[in-house]
Amino acid sequence: MGPPGVGKGTQAKILVEKLGIPQLSTGDILRGAIAQKTAMGLAAKEIMDRGDLVSDDIVVGIVSERLDAPDCKPGFILDGFPRTVPQADALGKMLEQKGLRLDAVVAITAEEGTLVARVAKRANETGGARADDNAEVARKRLEVYRELTEPLIAYYKGKGLLKTVDGMAPVDDVTAAILHALGA
Ligand code: AMP
Repeated sequence: MGPPGVGKGTQAKILVEKLGIPQLSTGDILRGAIAQKTAMGLAAKEIMDRGDLVSDDIVVGIVSERLDAPDCKPGFILDGFPRTVPQADALGKMLEQKGLRLDAVVAITAEEGTLVARVAKRANETGGARADDNAEVARKRLEVYRELTEPLIAYYKGKGLLKTVDGMAPVDDVTAAILHALGA
């Protein structure tokens, strides 16, 4: 976990290669639903475009279904989920029911001032592929992160699962720190 633009998606994709397990990105799955114009996608688009969170029920449903796919058997990387305390509670129950557990929760940190600029850089590099990658929405997503998601740091610290990694370091160093934190 970590604020928007900190490098969660970048690191998750590298870990997919290194660990041979899939990345479950609720943001990617929602963007896929928007591209396919499904009912869920249509409902989520407006919410995502303004930088708010889609409902806990929707993302919990997405993750629960995705975890049952055979490619998740050897393990999985959750990217962008959970993002609220109710989502984390639902994840805990879901994992228990499925006989699974989290090995670790990795928090990637960065100086706040750098994040909006990083999102703007991503918008440039991807030719504006993400409708929520502009400065105004990036600031909104940062606010939402602080209010609803940051409390999960204490939540998982309390469960003894939290590992913190400095996201200001070069990409390779961040990867090495995450692998070290996972004992992988
Ligand atoms: P991301 O790709 O993780 O930055 O997510 C992009 C957007 O998708 C977020 O700003 C939310 O609108 C939505 N989203 C992704 N994951 C979640 C989640 N776990 N809970 C609620 N909304 C989410």
